[in-house]
Amino acid sequence: MTWVATSTSKAAVTDPMQQRPTRIVVDLGALAGNLDAIRAHVEVPVMAILKANAYGHGLVPVARHLQAHGVAQIGVAFVEEGIALRRAGIDVPVLVLGGILGRQAQQLIAHDLEITVSSLDKLRQVEEAAQALGRKAVIHLKIDTGMERIGVHSYSCGPLIEAAAASRWCVLKGVYSHLACADDPDSPMTALQVERFQEACAHFTRIGAPMPIRHLANSGGVLHAPETWLDMVRPGILLYGVLPDPAARASVPVRPALSLLSQVVYFKVVRAGHPVSYGATWAPAQDTRVVTIPIGYGDGWPRALSNNGEVLVRGQRRPIVGRICMDQFMVDLGPDGTAYNGDDVVLIGTQDGQAIRIEDVAQRAGTIAYEILTRLNERIPREYVGASGPG
Ligand SMILES: *Cc1c(COP(=O)(O)O)cnc(C)c1O
Repeated sequence: MTWVATSTSKAAVTDPMQQRPTRIVVDLGALAGNLDAIRAHVEVPVMAILKANAYGHGLVPVARHLQAHGVAQIGVAFVEEGIALRRAGIDVPVLVLGGILGRQAQQLIAHDLEITVSSLDKLRQVEEAAQALGRKAVIHLKIDTGMERIGVHSYSCGPLIEAAAASRWCVLKGVYSHLACADDPDSPMTALQVERFQEACAHFTRIGAPMPIRHLANSGGVLHAPETWLDMVRPGILLYGVLPDPAARASVPVRPALSLLSQVVYFKVVRAGHPVSYGATWAPAQDTRVVTIPIGYGDGWPRALSNNGEVLVRGQRRPIVGRICMDQFMVDLGPDGTAYNGDDVVLIGTQDGQAIRIEDVAQRAGTIAYEILTRLNERIPREYVGASGPG
């Protein structure tokens, strides 16, 4: 035991990732508070969506915290994400949302992962794997009500429902569908999808089979469409305190859990007319003060923010100038601005009452908040705070 403690503390001191001035800080208190806010709003159990490294927040630490906070279910996209959770000792039910190939079925069952079944063929493959392992598979049927991604069409789901309800090797736990336009409160698509889903679910009653757990709502559904809440909801981005779309209605009081921070590593005066960074796309009209920040597109910080984004330095909004490089970018402080090496720089988050929101970064970069979050990669160390703070 002694050597374990020693090696851990040594790792803390020498781990180069701990020294990097750039870091993601995840507020676990915010995350738990968001889960509480969503639960209070919908009054049904929550399946927390943790795919893509928990939207960049870190799969295992987020899962641990939500498990401790009593989350009913976890959803991930891929088998590998589910296995990572099991290896970390997470024992909350985990549904793998993505489409699967027959060869993955045994792995899913062996790791006690719930399987999305979206056709008769897949049902047979899962049954075979379950029989081979001598262990029942827990499945959720995926109905396509308008997304045209995976899932059996709602207008032809009868045979799959019948076969799954009669299956000897599958436990039919859930039935679900996915909303294509719920982030838009005014889209007529959501009502149409609800109607199709209800028709599909009516088939269980028609054949006298017990109704499995029905789940349909993503974050947009949670925010805008109570008729989608049913027996369980599946929020992803909202759990992290971010809205699915700038036009979304903030009907649930959530706050962002993630901040992206760095520090000034270099200060220089750039002379009038001397261009900054690759391609020489920007040059100051007068002598100006420029600092370098050690994070770039190689970390997932979008290159589309070149000559376009802003960061907070000493409580001021400052423009990103020149092209963003793989590992660094430059910020103009103006002719009179000051900053010192080691000064904190906020790329996403708040400083002295100023805020840079993920939604704003996404809009500037011409993409959605989801992509900004999920692209922040493993090169950036994650730090967790607020575990025991107020929810
Ligand atoms: C990603 C995903 C969600 C969560 O979507 P958000 O918009 O982040 O809430 C829910 N259900 C399925 C099937 C998904 O793939």
